[in-house]
Amino acid sequence: MFGPPGSGKGTQAARLGKAHTLAHISTGDMLRGAMAAESDLGKRVKGVVERGDLVPDDLMLGLVRERLSEPDATGGFLLDGFPRTVPQAEGLLDVMRDLDRNLDVVVVLDVADDILVGRALKRGRSDDNEETIRHRLSVYRRQTEPVLSFLEGKVPIASVDGVGEIDEIGERIGRVLDATD
Ligand code: ADP
Repeated sequence: MFGPPGSGKGTQAARLGKAHTLAHISTGDMLRGAMAAESDLGKRVKGVVERGDLVPDDLMLGLVRERLSEPDATGGFLLDGFPRTVPQAEGLLDVMRDLDRNLDVVVVLDVADDILVGRALKRGRSDDNEETIRHRLSVYRRQTEPVLSFLEGKVPIASVDGVGEIDEIGERIGRVLDATD
């Protein structure tokens, strides 16, 4: 599940994960969990996450590699917030090859910037003040969007209009998934 901060990918990923019994792997949730638990990982990433910058690629890849080997992920999984850079995408394809798995589809949630800022401000997370949100958006455009060109031709990519009711957007995503089965 791919999209800018505030696009609703977390909401849609959670719904889809439940409906299709897929492991919902949200790297943002994993990092926030570590921060809340004040684990070594949490302490290490806190500053970066709160600034709205990206946690180093090797650290993220290690986390995701481990997570994908857990039992609940063997039946299928949904990645939310990962990969976020081209090196993460390259690493993910290596992990997929090692695990003899493949990626079925990348769903891109399409939402205009001004709508994104408004939505994120309503959420009120500790990394959600206006300045940080605008910073996360620019990080997304600069570092994350290029992942799509990198994946083009390697994994099917489908763009979905991310503006509307939650159910309606869920149905749009459902139609994309039906078409890729
Ligand atoms: P959002 O979709 O609003 O950006 P996330 O929960 O996906 O929220 O991510 C929150 C923060 O966690 C990011 O701004 C970043 O600091 C960190 N983060 C999450 N996933 C990654 C990743 N794959 N690589 C680097 N940093 C990440």
